[in-house]
Amino acid sequence: MESESVKNKEILNFIEQIIGEDIRNHKNEGRVQTRFPPEPNGYLHIGHAKSMCLNFGVAEKFGGTCNLRFDDTNPEKEDVEYVDSIKEDIRWLGFDWGDREFYASDYFDRLYEFAVKLIQKGKAYVDDLSSDEIAATKGTPTEPGKESPYRNRPVEENLQLFELMKEGKFEEGDKALRAKIDMASPNMHMRDPVIYRIKKVPHHRTGNKWNIYPMYDFAHGQSDAIEQVTYSLCTLEFESHRPLYDWLIENLEIFPSRQIEFARLNITNTVLSKRKLLELVNGGYVNGWDDPRMPTISGLRRRGYTPASIRNFADRIGVAKRDGMIDVALLEFSVREDLNKTANRIMGILDPVKVVITNYPEEGEEWLDAINNPENAAAGSRKISFSREIFIERSDFMVDPPRKFFRLGPGREVRLKHAYIIACEDYKKDPATGEVTEIYCKYDPDTRSGADKTGKKVKGTLSWVSVKHALPVEVRLYDRLFSRMDPLALQEGDDFKNYINPDSLKTIQSVVEPSVQGAKPGDRFQFLRQGYFCIDPDSSGGNLIFNRTATLRDTWAKKHG
Ligand code: ATP
Ligand code: MG
Repeated sequence: MESESVKNKEILNFIEQIIGEDIRNHKNEGRVQTRFPPEPNGYLHIGHAKSMCLNFGVAEKFGGTCNLRFDDTNPEKEDVEYVDSIKEDIRWLGFDWGDREFYASDYFDRLYEFAVKLIQKGKAYVDDLSSDEIAATKGTPTEPGKESPYRNRPVEENLQLFELMKEGKFEEGDKALRAKIDMASPNMHMRDPVIYRIKKVPHHRTGNKWNIYPMYDFAHGQSDAIEQVTYSLCTLEFESHRPLYDWLIENLEIFPSRQIEFARLNITNTVLSKRKLLELVNGGYVNGWDDPRMPTISGLRRRGYTPASIRNFADRIGVAKRDGMIDVALLEFSVREDLNKTANRIMGILDPVKVVITNYPEEGEEWLDAINNPENAAAGSRKISFSREIFIERSDFMVDPPRKFFRLGPGREVRLKHAYIIACEDYKKDPATGEVTEIYCKYDPDTRSGADKTGKKVKGTLSWVSVKHALPVEVRLYDRLFSRMDPLALQEGDDFKNYINPDSLKTIQSVVEPSVQGAKPGDRFQFLRQGYFCIDPDSSGGNLIFNRTATLRDTWAKKHG
């Protein structure tokens, strides 16, 4: 299912069409400058990856550059931990902002001057109303708001009061600076929006310098202008802010960046909002921002996702003008597709049961050839050890199998991958639990893979691991974090956390072939017939922990569809 946008780079999305048209008209001398503007109040998620692919992608396509700008105007929620993680995640995805690392907080002096300029032009005023009073007099979408009694303060007084606000002479909430636009505008954002507020909170970069901070709408667009950003690409919820964005450009007489909105990414069975993800982290519902169940970049990385799989996913979903919901199965498809090409195959048995090959010599042992990746000849091959006792997957054996079960059962034959054909003769059960504890088979020495002289055909091939060589490992099996397709479609009073999938993490003890010894965190493998697995950083010394990245096929639809 190679999508058209992946195959054919000529097909332009609507934003690229706009830019292409501008370039033909020599707008901005053909210059293309975008920016990726995260607020450092959490870790990046897959929605941000879409935004990055768009902003960095468009810049690259049209020979421009993309700035990294931290939108750090809200000192209460922001932190350097987040700044560092954001940079790491962007780099890991393969995007490069060169030396263009900017911070809205570095512009605080200029933003202050912009505010002064608006006051001087009679376009802003200091309001003594409390934030509650401002909200109460805003009106409704169908009724105009009421003008503040402080709206017509003389310019000189406004300048003085704003200066005193800056010096910390007033308390939080006592005063605010508002743009003087139109209290009757049908657009609520144009009804004299607050552009500066008093906040006596230290900032992670500017320390105690500021007692006032600009509001988002007075920082974002102005930062775009300062950086001479030509295209300010943002999500749809900012569409109604665009008239204010443009009003500020006009009245401040600054560089006219163009804001274009696109649909934000929503994915089934998860939430994409830093605030909600933070709630999961703080409430201990997951083990941190990089829990492999999280839709964060760091979570996906730990889970085993590759940068290419995430970028291909973003390419596939494209850029739309209307909000929608993408099936998480498409993300899983993207990682399977990439790992199929790149991950070496090994044999790993998730739920082992022992098979004794009764006609194989007690002390016998041999090393068989196994190719590492049939999709990639350059991956070469390795030796795997065979011996009298092996583990197979418990689910590959049935005491009384139906006719179509092409795996092992009494009297049935199967091939052991890279090894021999075996026939099952008997088995032993735990009398207390009824669980099968041992299976007895005979092997046919003439059927070794690659040297089979018999021409015998069997329907099933099983993976296995030699008991005396097996490496015990911990495996963490993940499932979707939320059992609901849309965990945010809620009744009044309900909470999205009520829909966390209680089976989203299962930890089991498994065995893998010894060739894996020495593998490092982040190494990825396909366990034959089982899925893709990645070594977790919690692994220490000889104790390997594997995260299951994805099953080989989409089993979710079968289970829950
Ligand atoms: P969140 O709700 O997760 O906090 P945000 O929009 O507040 O998201 P920012 O750090 O402000 O997060 O976002 C940085 C950039 O990423 C913005 O341009 C924003 O529009 C974009 N972005 C955020 N979430 C998504 C998403 N789900 N899909 C596409 N783009 C997104
Ligand atoms: Mg935000």
